[in-house]
Amino acid sequence: MAGAIWCVVEDDRKGTPKKVMAEVIGEAARLGGPVEAVWLTDKASEDGLRELGSWGATKVWLLENAAFAPYRSEVWAAALAELAAAQSPKAIFGPVTSRQREALARLAARLGVGIAADSVAFAMEGDRLVATRPVYAGKLLSKVTWAKQPWVATLRPNVFRPAESQAGKTAAVERPGVKIANAQMKFIERREELSTGLPELAEAEIVISGGRGMKGPENYVILENMGKVIGAAVGASRAAVDAGWRPHRFQIGQTGRTISPKLYMGFGVSGAIQHLAGMRTSKVIVAVNKDPEAPIFKIADYGIVADLFEVVPALTAEFKRLLEK
Ligand SMILES: Cc1cc2nc3c(=O)[nH]c(=O)nc-3n(C[C@H](O)[C@H](O)[C@H](O)COP(=O)(O)OP(=O)(O)OC[C@H]3O[C@@H](n4cnc5c(N)ncnc54)[C@H](O)[C@@H]3O)c2cc1C
Repeated sequence: MAGAIWCVVEDDRKGTPKKVMAEVIGEAARLGGPVEAVWLTDKASEDGLRELGSWGATKVWLLENAAFAPYRSEVWAAALAELAAAQSPKAIFGPVTSRQREALARLAARLGVGIAADSVAFAMEGDRLVATRPVYAGKLLSKVTWAKQPWVATLRPNVFRPAESQAGKTAAVERPGVKIANAQMKFIERREELSTGLPELAEAEIVISGGRGMKGPENYVILENMGKVIGAAVGASRAAVDAGWRPHRFQIGQTGRTISPKLYMGFGVSGAIQHLAGMRTSKVIVAVNKDPEAPIFKIADYGIVADLFEVVPALTAEFKRLLEK
């Protein structure tokens, strides 16, 4: 079938694609490609372009313009829609990130096609693409397809097998001219978030989550210490976020981030359905809670009924010992 599968690049805003792009590109290749990347940025790096090629993109459509930073969805969606109208890709994929879940929804609306948001699997059925996506807070999986192309979808991070980097594989770089839409939104304030020095929540392979059982913001330091030892991101339940203990960007769940790490460890998290909606596809789930009836134990692979303030330091010390061996 004609047309490429486009992978819209999520970068670190400093010119480097995020590693989640290896997953998006890997899945596009598994579906038969041809795989092309589309990169909207104010400044791309040569290393970044090489990386996209090494993951398997045969072409990078590079839209480099100061107007793409800071991100505004109406500017991104208009540029993507113009390029898509000219090039007719058969599919347009991007990872589930705060930018792309918005920009690709706007793009789909502009193109008059459907979007399979937060997809966790794809299959070709004849010449149709079928996407699987969780609904009802992850309780059910629904299969959807599109009435027409391009098939626009966002892919949940840490679910799809990443493409392996192949040294020497390169992508042709095309720099198409596109009109830059007048942004209707202006930034009147800019906030810089300080880095925690830990991996980002949505991309981390290990996530430690603290709930109301943490008792206060000052106690998250014990989770951060464990995070530093094992390279984990630290997230929180909504109860902890609503209490002002953690910023909202750390919230896991239906109204926060959806994560799918290799290992999720919940400390003092009860396991409300809305929290589970954001982490139930984690590969291995560990729960520590002093209440043996806490609902999180129903989906946990391993559970410890104990006081987290005893368990966290003990586990941290043991992880340190094992990793220093
Ligand atoms: C529309 C809507 C959207 C929502 N979205 C989200 C969302 O995105 N994310 C989310 O998380 N929630 C969300 N919620 C809220 C959700 O329903 C729960 O209220 C919330 O998840 C509870 O957080 P928690 O588990 O930290 O707190 P609690 O339910 O209060 O649980 C605290 C747990 O800590 C345990 N504990 C206490 N002390 C210790 C200790 N010393 N050692 C070990 N265990 C201890 C307790 O036994 C208890 O199980 C949403 C709710 C609504 C209505």
